[in-house]
Amino acid sequence: MDYQQVINNIYHEVKSLPVVGEVADYIPALANVDPDQFGIAIATIDGQTFGIGDYQCKFSIQSISKAFTLSMVIRHIGSQLWEYVGKEPSGTPFNSLVQLERENGIPRNPFINAGALVVTDKLMNLYTHPKEAILEFVREMAGTDDIYYDKTVAQSELKCANRNQALGYFMKSFNNIDNDVDALLDVYCHQCSISMTCEELAKSFLFLANHGINPHSQKEILSVSRSKRLNALMLTCGFYDESGEFAFRVGMPGKSGVGGGIIALIPGQLAIAVWSPRLNKYGNSYLGIETLERFTTDIGISIF
Ligand code: GLN
Repeated sequence: MDYQQVINNIYHEVKSLPVVGEVADYIPALANVDPDQFGIAIATIDGQTFGIGDYQCKFSIQSISKAFTLSMVIRHIGSQLWEYVGKEPSGTPFNSLVQLERENGIPRNPFINAGALVVTDKLMNLYTHPKEAILEFVREMAGTDDIYYDKTVAQSELKCANRNQALGYFMKSFNNIDNDVDALLDVYCHQCSISMTCEELAKSFLFLANHGINPHSQKEILSVSRSKRLNALMLTCGFYDESGEFAFRVGMPGKSGVGGGIIALIPGQLAIAVWSPRLNKYGNSYLGIETLERFTTDIGISIF
């Protein structure tokens, strides 16, 4: 399969589509990003990489980080986590509060903000220096040390974190958050601020495309069963209230972020990252989804 040719064709087709969508501006630092940047990268489990456009530009991975923190926590506490967070699609926006009261402070899944806050809270119980541990994990998965927090983005989000604070305090009132909410928000806003390129992102998700084994080091990160479960959650919940539509159109497990990035993968084969900052009403990248839909359609393979 000539993946370079496949992504070249898709890149040019998608780039000529009408310009729609806006960058996320509820985090002020994200509003300054040039909205028309666009990159695609593929990493295969046998060590090849392909890219086109702005695939080597760093951008804010935002909620894509939730898949890293979930992997770190699942690795240590396994199925105990499901006492504190569910595994069902929410059908609600990523920052919604509505289900939490009826469901006793237990978020529907680990990818909506409430669920990701619970996961990060557990991570803080596991590591004395959680911010350092997250960065170390992401660097190990990507196979490079050139990955950092974007302090400007982290501070910008922290200043405007009213909704996430509300989620944190509300869940704490149900005893579903152990740590101090401000300390939790600090770690959470930092994980969301991690800056990576499409190429680094594609490489860093190969462990989930390779049944839990990091192909760079051959180290087992997750068991086969846990890796399968992480992918199942990305397929059913990775795009919030657009998860069904994404599975329908694309047919790959994946995770989006409001920085405009999307990572998706085909187990046994590859990971593909797309970045285009203009978002649809669900907070997912317009061109990112267009690209991935064309990708699985053009190559005729998906997970189905
Ligand atoms: N940091 C963002 C938030 O918590 C992440 C949201 C996202 O990428 N969907 O609101």
